[in-house]
Amino acid sequence: MDREVSTPLMQQYREIKSKHHDAILLFRMGDFYEMFFDDAVTASRLLGLTLTSRNNGGASEVPLAGVPVKAVSQYLRRLVEHGHRVAICEQVEDPKAAKGIVRREVVETVTPGAVFEDDLLDGARDNFLASVAIHERVVGISAADVSTGRFRLVIVGLGDAPSALGRLAPREILVATGAGAELRALLPPGVLVTERADWEFDPALARDALAEQFAIAGLAGLGLGDGDAVAVGAGGALLRYLRELQPSGLAQLARPSVERAGAVVPLDDMTRRNLELVESLRGGMDGTLVGVLDRTLTPMGARCLRHWLLAPLVERAPIEARLATVAALVDDTLARGALRTALDGVRDIERLAGKTAAGRAAPRELRALGDSLARLPAVAAALAPISSCGVLASIVSAWDAADDICGAITKTLVERPPLTIGDGETIAPGVDTELDSLRALRDGGKDAIASLQMEERTRTGISSLKVGYNRVFGYYIEVTRAHDARIPADYQRRQTLAGAERYVTPALKEFEERILTATERCELLERERFEALRARTAREITRLQAIATHLAALDALASLAEVAAHERYCRPELTDGVELVIEGGRHPVVERMMPRDQFIPNDVTLTPDGRLIVLTGPNMAGKSTILRQIGLIVLMAQAGSFVPATRATIGICDRIFTRVGASDNLVRGQSTFMVEMAETSAILHTATTRSLVLLDEIGRGTATWDGLSIAWAVSEHLHDVIGCKTVFATHYHELTQLANELDGVRNYSVAVREVGEKILFLHRLQPGGASRSYGIDVGRLAGLPPAVITRARALLRLLERGDLAAALAGQSPRPPSSEQLPLFTAAPHPAVERLRAIDADATTPMAALQLLAELTALVRDDAVQP
Ligand code: ADP
Repeated sequence: MDREVSTPLMQQYREIKSKHHDAILLFRMGDFYEMFFDDAVTASRLLGLTLTSRNNGGASEVPLAGVPVKAVSQYLRRLVEHGHRVAICEQVEDPKAAKGIVRREVVETVTPGAVFEDDLLDGARDNFLASVAIHERVVGISAADVSTGRFRLVIVGLGDAPSALGRLAPREILVATGAGAELRALLPPGVLVTERADWEFDPALARDALAEQFAIAGLAGLGLGDGDAVAVGAGGALLRYLRELQPSGLAQLARPSVERAGAVVPLDDMTRRNLELVESLRGGMDGTLVGVLDRTLTPMGARCLRHWLLAPLVERAPIEARLATVAALVDDTLARGALRTALDGVRDIERLAGKTAAGRAAPRELRALGDSLARLPAVAAALAPISSCGVLASIVSAWDAADDICGAITKTLVERPPLTIGDGETIAPGVDTELDSLRALRDGGKDAIASLQMEERTRTGISSLKVGYNRVFGYYIEVTRAHDARIPADYQRRQTLAGAERYVTPALKEFEERILTATERCELLERERFEALRARTAREITRLQAIATHLAALDALASLAEVAAHERYCRPELTDGVELVIEGGRHPVVERMMPRDQFIPNDVTLTPDGRLIVLTGPNMAGKSTILRQIGLIVLMAQAGSFVPATRATIGICDRIFTRVGASDNLVRGQSTFMVEMAETSAILHTATTRSLVLLDEIGRGTATWDGLSIAWAVSEHLHDVIGCKTVFATHYHELTQLANELDGVRNYSVAVREVGEKILFLHRLQPGGASRSYGIDVGRLAGLPPAVITRARALLRLLERGDLAAALAGQSPRPPSSEQLPLFTAAPHPAVERLRAIDADATTPMAALQLLAELTALVRDDAVQP
């Protein structure tokens, strides 16, 4: 050890720090948490603290930065927000009682994935810490939210792992140090990744750890079998890590819920973002589906709804159960109103219970838990008229009014207890007689002295007798010398003054003892009482979590019903077929951004013999809107929501894919076009007959012919090989030719009306393809200068006549610097290219026929000739 830091304190620091080298160590010293060395440098930079130094008796100085204990939470929040782990080291013995240096221990480590503080949590979302392992292309994800105690185990194939991780949106992910590239590729960018030793993921060790945590004999009780080893291993590593972070225990952790592949519709990152489910493309919740559907009244309801939307179901029965409940709540306005009134004011029972179980709930929080439970009877009463509908049947039959827990809390605590114990009264009067009399003594101290003085005057007959107090002797009775003879035997002399004597009596000593310690003892008793109540409530964590889960579901269902009623949604009819029929469909978010009834509803039908729609129309006509609205309607239906349509029949989809626009993924260092192709490839590899594929402008990121050929081939593959429901929005109106070639392709376009030079967007879907692109019209609408518009129209006419040479040479001073134009001149016509590629000897008569069709198609609809 360096000589200059060898004081006993620094030795203690070093010893503790060596066990927490990957965390910033907050080292408690009296009223401050101090940070030393690199921690001090980092923290002073991030938190704007002054960096000072401490001389430890040697030559060099130790960098030092400190934060006051009282203000620690805001500093903690900022450190954690910056992705740091923070270990909190407390003095674990009373400094007065300590021999030598005060004993210190790390009592908790806060990381982005493991926080309790309200200001570090978002009420509307879970705060998961996940652990991921992989074995033979099966991925096990274990995720826990220490603030709620929710614990999930997810077992999925490698391909669906990103979607599962995306849905859980963990703040921190654990991986084994030896994890390979396959697993590392799954980790979302920007998330704190914590490496743990490989052995911690060992399934056999994990099995024991899980069994011990949940006090069960084997994992079969959790619904886990031998095949789930990878998830069990991940779960074990997670538990071990959490125990390290929270040495005081994990009483709040609920038994894990197990989710397997196929239970929910895997939504890839692209689809989740494009459909703007919980976050808009611009960021934030405005303009998202959850923004429209979330009228929940409690944070747990909001989290539940969010989870439902990110995990639409695939099995029909549970979807129907949710829909039946929403239907009942839509129809019975009174029940809905009563339920929502009862839920209003219910606080985050799940997190309050989690805090209680972890021994962290403050008096005010425990009271809030009790007050929330007090609303349960009103919730039950609201449900009575519809108690047999959908999921309500099982909720009502398992109903736990928790009046014992609620009663204990509301009777024991005052109505508005303080945030911290000792900052005011916590325990209600009448709970503890000793506490009540101590309080009376503390508060009535002066009265008690006055009456004691009166009693002693009467007893001794000395009318000048006084009860007084000083710091050295405490309480005393003062009598002037003149009355010496009348002093009773039980008076003990303590102090002699010039003209008077001071005495104490056993009764006065006892009184003194009581009054002087009353405040302290009140506080102690209050703390004892409070902690007993908290511990008692903590033992009911399983019940409280079940109650929270029920209330969350009720709140989410009532929210869906409220929106359905207000926005005139309909109950979708779900089938096990593959059809999709939407009448009068609307985009739930776009319609909300315009005045009521301004949104133009549209019908869409996808059936096996019309399974691929080519959707054309000018920019701004509403193609993307229709595309997304189809995806959203299916997703909402499978999440158990009513849908914005007049009628909808939906064959349940196993997967929903969207590829919209050219989105950048520069974070991962791939070009836009590469990403687009990778995503398209993923769709072609995983879609099934029961999938819904929504494509917007595939192949736009490359040269025209390239793009068109890719779009064409992709459509053929989706149509012929996969046979899924597909809507393909494109500005390549050439693609409308597909309908002539393939049985299951239908052309639709979004109607526009041309009024003279102008175009009017009707936003109405109509059969048939668009005949031109209207790009120039949109350019004009967007305010391109009239001269540019006129010139563009002239060029377009030339190009359409195939007169590119004229366009470039004769009438344009120099060639436009567009990327694509040179290709028109340089590249041979695709038909020519196709012809060149033919190996005539190896072409069968069948293939020749197909080729002919392909060639005619290529030639027929070409606006631009080489
Ligand atoms: P495209 O994908 O064809 O370029 P968008 O789908 O982005 O067009 O739609 C452009 C705008 O048109 C939307 O932002 C919306 O304001 C409006 N719009 C789209 N569909 C409708 C509709 N059905 N009814 C009313 N307005 C619509």
